[in-house]
Amino acid sequence: MTRKKETKLIGFLKDNCANYDRHYQSCLFADSCKVLDGQRCGYFEKCVLGPPDYKYKLPGYDYAKLFAQYADLTGAKKQKVKVRRCECGTPLRFRQRYCESCSKQRAKQANRERQRKHRLSNSVNVTL
Ligand SMILES: [Zn+2]
Repeated sequence: MTRKKETKLIGFLKDNCANYDRHYQSCLFADSCKVLDGQRCGYFEKCVLGPPDYKYKLPGYDYAKLFAQYADLTGAKKQKVKVRRCECGTPLRFRQRYCESCSKQRAKQANRERQRKHRLSNSVNVTL
């Protein structure tokens, strides 16, 4: 028998579901984990995976994929997850406006702009 490769969703669940007992490989409140059995789980939907616009998404997970796998596994309605992306295409974390490299780039640019304006205003003063 070949072991089925664990999906991203199952890895995510095992790492993040507070009710999942790794030792017994089951749910703390039931005989088995519903999601592992291919059923929808209210707790998982509400508090672990959360709604598509969940505020507490964890960094490092592809939520679009997680939702798709959850829907495939349990028959739940497919949900579209909007991934906020930086102008360069890097997925953004909660509250980020630009990815790290772009925000550094922009800070540099803003700085240069400030210096240019500063020089400009100096030269204006000189000609007065
Ligand atoms: Zn970027």
